[in-house]
Amino acid sequence: MPGIAQQLIRTAESLGASAVSRKLHSGQVLIVMYHGVLPEPRDWDHWCQIPADEFRWQIEHLKTHYEVLPLSEIVARLAADEPLPPHTAAITFDDGLRNNFEVAFPILRELDVPATMYLATGYVGTDELLWQDRVFAEIESFDSMELDLSVHGLGTHRWNNVVARQKVFETLLANLKRLPVDRKNRALAEICRQTRNAGLRNPTRYDFQLMSWDNAAEMQASGLIEIGPHTDNHELLSRLSDDQIASEIVGSYEAVCNRLDSSSPTFAFPNGTQNDYDDRALKALRQCNIPAAVTTISGLNSRSQPLMQLKRVGIGADTTRWQFRAEISGLMDYLRALKSPPSERS
Ligand SMILES: [Zn+2]
Repeated sequence: MPGIAQQLIRTAESLGASAVSRKLHSGQVLIVMYHGVLPEPRDWDHWCQIPADEFRWQIEHLKTHYEVLPLSEIVARLAADEPLPPHTAAITFDDGLRNNFEVAFPILRELDVPATMYLATGYVGTDELLWQDRVFAEIESFDSMELDLSVHGLGTHRWNNVVARQKVFETLLANLKRLPVDRKNRALAEICRQTRNAGLRNPTRYDFQLMSWDNAAEMQASGLIEIGPHTDNHELLSRLSDDQIASEIVGSYEAVCNRLDSSSPTFAFPNGTQNDYDDRALKALRQCNIPAAVTTISGLNSRSQPLMQLKRVGIGADTTRWQFRAEISGLMDYLRALKSPPSERS
């Protein structure tokens, strides 16, 4: 959002616009989306990793202003058409990063706030990184300043400072996400060849490693954390064949149910935009009797929102405190919708 618009919204927020928006949306369900929580800020920047002190402030804010319930309870009440408290919220984490267990969970336990964590089950308990995080680790760690991916149709990328490096990462990741899985995997292998697997030797890597099954079981046993599937390999489902979609969904569903002795977990779509899942994925979810799924489509949920396509509000490293209040109240989505043509609204 341009600087002047940003400043206007900030001023409106400080004058109480978020509080008004929160009241206007009191009957809608807020589902907050996190990924990683770091014990302290790092000298690199990744949208998905927020510092623990900001996370604590956000959870305290949610606890004060919302009725934070387990997502499964919200889904059950919506499915049964039972009432929910005004200002109902749920907290979710995607991917299953180890810092969810080591950093976020102690804060949630101390504040007695429930949450749902979605695991990319194929990576749980391994040293591997989700492929998207591997791209970040490789580019962040590479001591050269050029990648030539022209043979893969992805161009040549050069950078000479931190900002340009970040831009290359974002551009490459966006382009890789558009490719069929086989082509994406070949391009990723080429990136790792040119960087000589620099990402595997960088301490950054630790912050992107996933939790173990024991970590997940311990959190679930606390009664505060629900665990749900997020596919096996964190592939974007709409880029897969029918068989691959079924395998990714059923594989991660069965891993969660069998490893953690749980039933009817909710599901999170990898990447989660409208372009990242389709009817084939929805069918596979229904065949598993999965009661609800969360997307990354931004917004609050009215009672008519399909349970298999719940919206969320994503919180990242660049979300300031006033932006957080504006995002969770529905104010930011309202303003975005005003700016977008109707066809782009979700
Ligand atoms: Zn994810």
